[in-house]
Amino acid sequence: MEGICHTLPSPLMTDDPPLGRCPKCGEELSSAYVLVEYEKDDGTTGIWAECPICDEIVSPQNNSQR
Ligand SMILES: [Zn+2]
Repeated sequence: MEGICHTLPSPLMTDDPPLGRCPKCGEELSSAYVLVEYEKDDGTTGIWAECPICDEIVSPQNNSQR
């Protein structure tokens, strides 16, 4: 007798943390939607991503708790 271990890898679970939200519709945009990463004048990384909802290129807004 042996215990059956249900540890199947889940192909749908991608290690894809959201970058932020679409400023227009609030959709979370994962790195799958990133088009361009660039460095801003202040040294931070800016991102352009294509929102699948708006079908537009937007700059994801981070979920900063302020
Ligand atoms: Zn959107």
